[in-house]
Amino acid sequence: MYSLSWKNENQSPNNQQTSITKGKMEIEDEASDDVVYFNFGGSKLKVSMQENQDPLIMQIVVNKDFLQQSLTEKQKQTKNPKLSKISNYHYGTALELFLKHHESKHITTSDESCSICMCEFVDNITKLNIIDLTEDLQAKKADEDEIIRLEHCDGHYFHLGCLLRYIDSHSSSHIKCPNCSKIYGVMMGTQPQGTMRVTVNKNMQCSGYHNCGTIVIEYHFPHGQLPNGRNYSGTSRVAYLPDNEEGREVLALLRTSFDRKLTFTVGTSVTTGRSDTVVWNGVHHKTNLSGGSSHFGYPDATYFSRVKEELAARGVS
Ligand SMILES: [Zn+2]
Ligand SMILES: [Zn+2]
Repeated sequence: MYSLSWKNENQSPNNQQTSITKGKMEIEDEASDDVVYFNFGGSKLKVSMQENQDPLIMQIVVNKDFLQQSLTEKQKQTKNPKLSKISNYHYGTALELFLKHHESKHITTSDESCSICMCEFVDNITKLNIIDLTEDLQAKKADEDEIIRLEHCDGHYFHLGCLLRYIDSHSSSHIKCPNCSKIYGVMMGTQPQGTMRVTVNKNMQCSGYHNCGTIVIEYHFPHGQLPNGRNYSGTSRVAYLPDNEEGREVLALLRTSFDRKLTFTVGTSVTTGRSDTVVWNGVHHKTNLSGGSSHFGYPDATYFSRVKEELAARGVS
């Protein structure tokens, strides 16, 4: 039997899973010749074997130095400039896919297909042999055919060609992973020209926050014209946050959202039905000091966590 385990070095130190895995690895570190570690661009995969193992696993262990060297060379390959600008990435290999396929805790095969086109990367993964693995590591492929893993995605892969087409078709400076929704690069919205003015009023209080003043955010958008020549009507909105630690934290996020043109967009107003007007773009604001959530006001126990989630989904965190 053999066993495989992953350690993802990108995971947060608070992640309990990581510390369990780390602890486990430290104990097993004293192991012998039949334990091999492969470093796949930030993720370490441990391969250990005893008797009656898969023949290819045994060959991998025997050829570990040569394979690791080829793997290191592979990761040094020149990266595509368009994708590099958005995210760091690592080359995936048939060796990595094969080892993951045999991982003892492996429960899904979706990682073996491109997260965009859904095609499997390797035909018949269980029939690979050591020559296939070596050739795959050493082949200099066209960008189109390379398998890649984005920096913070855990375990899923893409064709580099599929990602480049995604970037082109969205004329985008960011990628939202279609598999885990992580945002890479900077997501920019379509908000028109406007201003965000912030003041603190010590005498004003958000309902439920009686020990602090209130942050007053004033947004103003004049009438204007879209790049396609259509006129739109502007708007002015006022929103409130308690002037405490959490309120100031949300304010900083809202400012980033505004600077990235994500807070408003031009569309049809839900309240008036009017088209071509500046409207909120899904980042909820409190436009009243009181009245509770049904009146877009305070108190609202889950408001901060919800707005932070909405912002994080736009890459603002
Ligand atoms: Zn693909
Ligand atoms: Zn992902």
